[in-house]
Amino acid sequence: MSSPLPILIIGAGPSGLLLSLLLSRHKIPVLLLEQSHSLNPQPRASHYTAESCIEFSRAGILPQMYSQGFFPNGVSWRRLNPPHFSRLIKINNPVSDENGFKMVCLPLHRLGQIMEDELKKEETAEIRYGTKVIDIGEVEEENPYVVLEDGERVKGRYVIGCDGAGSRIRKRLFGEDYFSGYTWDKQIVATNVYYGGFEGVAYDDSQFFVDGEHWHMVAKIQEDGLYRVTYGDIGGLSYEDLKKRQPEKFRIMLPGHPTPDKYRLVNFSPYKVHQRCVDKMRKGKFLLAADAAHLCNPFGGMGLTGGIADVGGLYECLLGIHAGLADDSILDKWDEVRRDIWHKVINPISTDNLKRLYQYSGPDEAMEKDPFFIMMKKAEEKEKEMNGTGKKEEQDNPGLPPLRYDMTQHYAK
Ligand SMILES: Cc1cc2nc3c(=O)[nH]c(=O)nc-3n(C[C@H](O)[C@H](O)[C@H](O)COP(=O)(O)OP(=O)(O)OC[C@H]3O[C@@H](n4cnc5c(N)ncnc54)[C@H](O)[C@@H]3O)c2cc1C
Repeated sequence: MSSPLPILIIGAGPSGLLLSLLLSRHKIPVLLLEQSHSLNPQPRASHYTAESCIEFSRAGILPQMYSQGFFPNGVSWRRLNPPHFSRLIKINNPVSDENGFKMVCLPLHRLGQIMEDELKKEETAEIRYGTKVIDIGEVEEENPYVVLEDGERVKGRYVIGCDGAGSRIRKRLFGEDYFSGYTWDKQIVATNVYYGGFEGVAYDDSQFFVDGEHWHMVAKIQEDGLYRVTYGDIGGLSYEDLKKRQPEKFRIMLPGHPTPDKYRLVNFSPYKVHQRCVDKMRKGKFLLAADAAHLCNPFGGMGLTGGIADVGGLYECLLGIHAGLADDSILDKWDEVRRDIWHKVINPISTDNLKRLYQYSGPDEAMEKDPFFIMMKKAEEKEKEMNGTGKKEEQDNPGLPPLRYDMTQHYAK
């Protein structure tokens, strides 16, 4: 008897690796095709919410993440101009959620390494690096296939495009320009840096700076003192121009106004910023997940968080189909639910997260007018009033509305 066709997963980014791992833990054959020869080392996601940790736990990698990462204490919003760096609002991360999961910080390439190591132990999983998908077969085919650069056709039970923002699978399914939404007129620069000057000021583990011109974010991402500094810059500048502007940006933004000899810049990556979502995440046996299906700006860390929730739900669908508990129609429900959550939760919240950093005349106006700041200020005042009645004077992070959706409720049996 011939062996069953694998589920083809295109792209060994975090979403492709996680989906491959979740499925192969149940001995479902998966073939992961990645165009590069190794995992991507660029500075991108670093913070994973307690809710995302449910999926990492199901994949059996949460203990490694907790031991290699750390638990950020909270997040604040600050001024850049005098009084320098003072806090506007601070919210604490709860020690853990009601299920015992907690937000963890770990740079993406280290998370990728954990997943790759685990995947290599699974006998029904195969990863092929240096394997670029350039085309797909007919959507109507019973067994979908992809075409590789050398012309080889690889067949699968399903094809899952986890191939990121520029997804070839999305373009071949729906056309080159099919990605509703917009590109911001600003761009961002993500850097990883060692700088002792952060330790001398009473920074929180993560903070956003509200400033019309030099809006940015500073977050500790490793216990050894590695920080992520992500800042906004003028849209349309070339890589070289952005690189030239970086020392002056750091001089203005960082405590102590350092010159380049005072810090060690280990990564520098400009990104265009988008808010986009496809109108369909499924066509026949082809599906799109995570960045291949939707994008948002990274302020507030909702990009991969949404992708992980896609993957958790898709895993439940594919597991149900594999076990005979559901048919293909469950994938339409998944498509509908995931896009709905992006439009109602991820897009508006991530948009506000970015705009509140620069759209007001300054931090004072932001505190007066921004609905989130007004809400947090009120909560802070209430806590202060209650102080003395045994209540604590800090505010807990109100967290995000749920991004996960349990697909097992749509199993037929
Ligand atoms: C500065 C920054 C900070 C961020 N911080 C956070 C954060 O804290 N929390 C958060 O949730 N999100 C964050 N994000 C977003 C997050 O990094 C992305 O959402 C996430 O990396 C998307 O993962 P993915 O697997 O969908 O795609 P990708 O990571 O882009 O992976 C896609 C993979 O597919 C491969 N591929 C592409 N085309 C092909 C092809 N034709 N054939 C074979 N392989 C192919 C690529 O080589 C790549 O390995 C941040 C993003 C940025 C830019």
